Amino acid sequence: MSGENFTNTVGSERGTEIFGGRDRAPRRPRPALTIREAARETPVFAETDVLVVGGGPSGTTAAIAAGRLGADVMLVERYNHLGGLSTGGLVIWIDRMSDWSGRQVISGIAHDFLDRLPADAVQGPPRADWGSSDAATAAYWGQRTAAFHGITTWSPTIDPEALKTLSMQMTLEQKVRLTFHAWAVEPIVEDGAMRGAIFESKEGRRAILAKTVVDTTGDADLLARAGLSFETDSDETDIHSCINTAFMLGGVDMERWLDFRANDKEGFKAFMDRGREQLKSFEKPFVSWRNDIALFMGPRLSGYSAVDVEDLSEIEVRSRQLTVGHLAVYREHAPGFGDAFLMLGAPQIGVRHSRRLIGLNKVTRAQWDAGKVWDDEIGVSTSLAPKFPNISVPYGALVPAGIDGVLGAGRHIACDTNSHSFLREVPQCWMTGHAAGIAAALAADSGVRPRDLEPRLIQRELLRQGAYLSPSTEAAAGSATRAAE
Ligand SMILES: Cc1cc2nc3c(=O)[nH]c(=O)nc-3n(C[C@H](O)[C@H](O)[C@H](O)COP(=O)(O)OP(=O)(O)OC[C@H]3O[C@@H](n4cnc5c(N)ncnc54)[C@H](O)[C@@H]3O)c2cc1C
Repeated sequence: MSGENFTNTVGSERGTEIFGGRDRAPRRPRPALTIREAARETPVFAETDVLVVGGGPSGTTAAIAAGRLGADVMLVERYNHLGGLSTGGLVIWIDRMSDWSGRQVISGIAHDFLDRLPADAVQGPPRADWGSSDAATAAYWGQRTAAFHGITTWSPTIDPEALKTLSMQMTLEQKVRLTFHAWAVEPIVEDGAMRGAIFESKEGRRAILAKTVVDTTGDADLLARAGLSFETDSDETDIHSCINTAFMLGGVDMERWLDFRANDKEGFKAFMDRGREQLKSFEKPFVSWRNDIALFMGPRLSGYSAVDVEDLSEIEVRSRQLTVGHLAVYREHAPGFGDAFLMLGAPQIGVRHSRRLIGLNKVTRAQWDAGKVWDDEIGVSTSLAPKFPNISVPYGALVPAGIDGVLGAGRHIACDTNSHSFLREVPQCWMTGHAAGIAAALAADSGVRPRDLEPRLIQRELLRQGAYLSPSTEAAAGSATRAAE
């Protein structure tokens, strides 16, 4: 690991009091020993058409999409809720559903989620303001994480508990069999194809056999255990390499804080300087769906691996230390935070990047400028900045090279690091999960390998389920439909 030079001293008297002001703990060497486990018979828990492993944004949409096609679907999730980082990780800022013109390009099940959430569980600009470059509107929403480059966008913040409830409701409506508290530990691979997975739970080890598997674990756990190679490069100085456990402070007055931040520049600077001096890694709060709750999607820690159990443990200790430190500094010095309390430390650790699969195709920086539209497009993402056209996402980015019977979706799809910076966002994970679920159900129903599926079939079903595709893709899929009729 590259953390040796990491000098992010954790401070604040409160943090020091509780944890002894510890920095990164030194590692004890691991014994150079192995043990041999006995061979065993593993009971089969279930047989299914589609097995989705991981119930985050991508896995939830994959399960719903496959269910809408009538497939028998099982979803295995290690925790007790759906939504992954968008609920359990407190990543409740859904960034961004609309493109720079205001058109909602991430739609389908993603749209259904936001449409069906209770009105008081969503905060974001009204439809009429999406794409607006009106300065006052953008200034207002810019403070509320919904305007960038002077343009207001559809990037709401949501109540994570409401999304958990709705996700359960929408999967159950499609008769998805939910299996919580079940950690997938091993793929079942025969003749170069994934045929299911083994999971561990309180019952012990059990197998699920499936016609098609979708790996939506975020870290491509099943694909990694199948022995595939991955791309893992990322800039350690960049936010995308940071890992952290987010938290929410309750009992705050965010409007008062926003007013302070906007109108007392010197006071704000002095406050931030003080926080950095005390904690080194010091974060600003984001708005949430309520004025009395502040969201902190940090403290950001770099130099750690998301697939190393000692690093993950260390991040929890340091995040907690910094969380308590933030609470102390904000309570004492930040306008609007005098009565703040620690409402929740995220149940799921916040990983932005670990492995990216090597697919039959991938999204790269090279396609951005010309606005390339892939023939096998399964979704369209808004771009990083208005100077770039929308980004077409190919089906090949979900199909792992080197193994059959399985698809990948969510934050580990095939792309380069530049494109990963936005393809890992919640709406994009909803989008790739939606397509993977449709492809998995089509493959399971027809017996065709995912890599041999006709992309027009996937596109037609995506359109039928309300997804957005580039106009040229929609026209081509439409004429394919007419020709088939
Ligand atoms: C700190 C932080 C800030 C972010 N900010 C934003 C933002 O502002 N806006 C935005 O849109 N996006 C943001 N993101 C990105 C976004 O939250 C994630 O990339 C997205 O949630 C990934 O979705 P996913 O479905 O691929 O994976 P995840 O959300 O990670 O879900 C994976 C699910 O799989 C389960 N799982 C994993 N392994 C196993 C296993 N072996 N067996 C069973 N279950 C398993 C997990 O428990 C989890 O529920 C942020 C991410 C982080 C970490």
